[in-house]
Formats: sequence, structure tokens, C-alpha cells
Amino acid sequence: MDQPIVAECSALQHHYGSTAALAGIDLDLHAGRVTALLGPNGAGKTTLIHLLLGVLSVQRGRLELFGGLKPGSREAQERIGVMLQASGVQDNLTVAELLGLFASFYPQPDSQIGLLDELELIELADRRFDRLSGGQKQRVLFALAVVGRPDWLILDEPTTGLDPAARRILWRAIEARRQAGVSILLCTHFMDEAQKLADHVVVLDRGRILEQGSPDAIRRRVPSDRIRVRTALPSAKLRTLPGVQSVQAGEAFTEILSRRGVDTVRALLAADDAIEDLEVAGADLETAFLALTDSAQTEQEAA
Ligand code: ATP
Repeated sequence: MDQPIVAECSALQHHYGSTAALAGIDLDLHAGRVTALLGPNGAGKTTLIHLLLGVLSVQRGRLELFGGLKPGSREAQERIGVMLQASGVQDNLTVAELLGLFASFYPQPDSQIGLLDELELIELADRRFDRLSGGQKQRVLFALAVVGRPDWLILDEPTTGLDPAARRILWRAIEARRQAGVSILLCTHFMDEAQKLADHVVVLDRGRILEQGSPDAIRRRVPSDRIRVRTALPSAKLRTLPGVQSVQAGEAFTEILSRRGVDTVRALLAADDAIEDLEVAGADLETAFLALTDSAQTEQEAA
């Protein structure tokens, strides 16, 4: 049976003057799962998040939260925790003061000490927010987003600018919320993050939904093999091999995307008998994302 829906958008549009930021979106966000919202710059992700939060008003179409609540209504706000790119917190307060302040807004807040511990912020508890590094601030903003124990967590690029260790701390914390049944909308430019955390991926491009499904289903929609090889052959020659869609020469390896991996590899080995390193894998989410958004762009240019 389908899980309840935290947000339901039908024919949702949003225009800034003559720019159609959302050009008619039909989207159900299901409870209890992590939905990753992916899209190139300008796709409409922030606009959608602002509509879900009631920061922007619905101009056209329908948008309902939690089976009947209006975005921005008090009841809806109490159930949502949000971490946006621009924080707007009172930055002369310490981490502990901010956490205490945010906890006071909610009837049953989470343990503040528990959150400081989970996000490895205990030693920073008495430091003012404006004296934290960018990565430390991100972790504090996450703690503020979850301290009210929200049913739905909206995270807009939560790990941008984080070092690998801090990223892992946030990933662990997001995963723990998912395990606890919190619904999560994760807007990210990192495909490895979406692949790792998301149950469902929505690809937005120029205000429209291009694809949605599980990360694996999206990946499989691009019938390509990725070949990583160390070769002296020039890119121009590699592009002429059977099945090859694209070639990217890096410093150590060249990456080839092919529609017919076996044929490409055969031809490659015949053309260069000095090859030692060769790896073949299916397309990853990033490859699929780039192929989907590229082909949408090509179709639009051809129209
Ligand atoms: P990014 O990944 O760069 O953050 P995004 O997917 O969040 O992009 P939006 O910020 O929603 O995209 O923008 C969608 C479109 O609407 C873009 O073409 C953008 O230029 C335009 N836009 C966004 N905000 C405004 C605004 N306040 N006034 C005019 N146009 C806007």
C-alpha cells in the first residue's frame, strides 16, 4: 500500500515576470522516504522549495501538504524542519543558545546535548555562530532544522562546502532520521549523495520534471557503459570506435561512455596493444543525470 503523501503538487507553475521557473509540475512526495531533488542551475529547485514552505505563494496549480494543509500555515510549519542555503539565524548567539532558542519553539524538542554529540559540536557549544567555520555552521543549521523533531525535513544543499568527514557526519544524521521514519526532501548537486541517501530521485530541468524513480531505475534509463582506460590513443581516435558516445581525457585515465561497451573494448584493445588498466562499469547516477539533462537541452534546441 502506498504511504501517505507529505506534499502533492498538481499543474504547479511559478513565473518571475516572463521567466517560467516552474512550468507545470505534477509531483507526489511520499512520507517516510528520502526524495532527492536534482537539477542543473536554474532548474526551479529553490522555487519549488520556497513554494512548499509558503515563502512564495502559489500562482497557478495546486499544492497541498500533509493531506490538506496550506504551505506556510502554522500547522504545516510546526511539522517541517528546514535547512536553507541562506540561514538568517541570529549569528551573535552561541551554538547552545541558538539550539535552546529553536528548541523552545516546539512542544517536544529533541535532546540538545544529544544533538550536539551526534553532530560533533560539543566543543563548539559556547562559540558564537558568526565565529564558526562554514562547515561547522552547516552542522549547526542541521541541528536547528531537526531539534523540533519534524515529520518532514527539507534540506537545501546541506553538504555543500563540507569536508569529507563533516559530510559523513551529516549523511549519518540524515540516515538516522530516515530510519526513524522522518520524510526528507534533499536538494543536492552531489550525485553520490543522492545515490547513497535517496529512495526516490526527481530530476527537474527548466521547470519541468524530466524523470523520477529510484536511483537505480534512473541509472538504468541510460543504456551506457563507462570505460576507464589508460591509453595513449588520442580522444579523436577514441571517438571513432564503435558505440562511443563521449570521451573525456583526464590526467591519469580517459573515461569513455559507450552504448556498446563490449564492442568498444574489443576495438580499443585492437587499436592499442599497450593497454594495462581498463575498467568497465554501468552508468552511475551522475552519468545518467548528465545524459538526461543534455538530451533535454538538445531536444529543446532542435525544437
Ligand atoms: P540553483 O541550482 O542554481 O540554485 P535552482 O534549481 O534552485 O537553481 P531557481 O532558483 O528556482 O533554480 O530558479 C529557476 C529560474 O527562475 C531561473 O531561471 C532563475 O533565474 C529564475 N529566478 C529565480 N528567482 C528569481 C527572482 N527572484 N526573480 C527573477 N527570476 C528568478
